[in-house]
Amino acid sequence: MKILKFGGTSVGNADAIRQVLAIIRDTEEARCVVVSASAGTTDRLAEAARAAERGDGDSAQRIVADLRERHAALATELGAAQVAAELDRLATSTATLLGAIALLHECTPRSRDAVWAYGERASSLIVAGALEHIDVRAEAVDAAGAIVTDDAFGSANPLMDETQRVVRPRIASIHRDGGTPVVTGFIGGTSDGVVTTLGRGGSDYSAAILAAALGAAELLIYTDVSGVMSADPRIVKDAR
Ligand code: ASP
Ligand code: MG
Repeated sequence: MKILKFGGTSVGNADAIRQVLAIIRDTEEARCVVVSASAGTTDRLAEAARAAERGDGDSAQRIVADLRERHAALATELGAAQVAAELDRLATSTATLLGAIALLHECTPRSRDAVWAYGERASSLIVAGALEHIDVRAEAVDAAGAIVTDDAFGSANPLMDETQRVVRPRIASIHRDGGTPVVTGFIGGTSDGVVTTLGRGGSDYSAAILAAALGAAELLIYTDVSGVMSADPRIVKDAR
């Protein structure tokens, strides 16, 4: 099995996602895809949570409305109309959560993780929907029910034995149906099913956790850059 992980820029707009879809489709081995939130989304969600905590519910709601619109546009552009309703439900529950935070003027790490989870959840729905549109059977997998962690909200630690027990049959059943699982990076869930996050930039970590739990032969972390430097430019002045 190969794990293919795509970061925020790679799922940041429809053209980038089309390239991701082609890479996935052309991978012949059994594959498991992991996706980040689209570029900038987690920062915006962090901003929304901070605004809500100050009691500024309006700013928080504006951010969610903006993200809702961006995700809906992406899904439409990629022919993934079948996920529109689910994307909408996700945005609505995030908006409700932010409303509660604004009322209380309190954002616990647990609440913040629930807000942040929106970004990766939206990406996995969009990428899975877009794969189906090009006739690649796919299923979005919410890692809140697949990567089991402790309750250190904001920088949760995976419980590898539990994760393996939960994730192996889940991924195997998707593969048996000829599907490609598209798993949310960055997030996990406690054994009671409460969503957690693994720390900023944590989607690479998610991919590594899945690779280990699934006994994958290879873990590929795709990153969207215009080139590779000949040396570390912080050390070598004339690096090209
Ligand atoms: N979306 C998360 C972040 O921005 C995780 C990741 O992209 O790896 O930190
Ligand atoms: Mg990254």
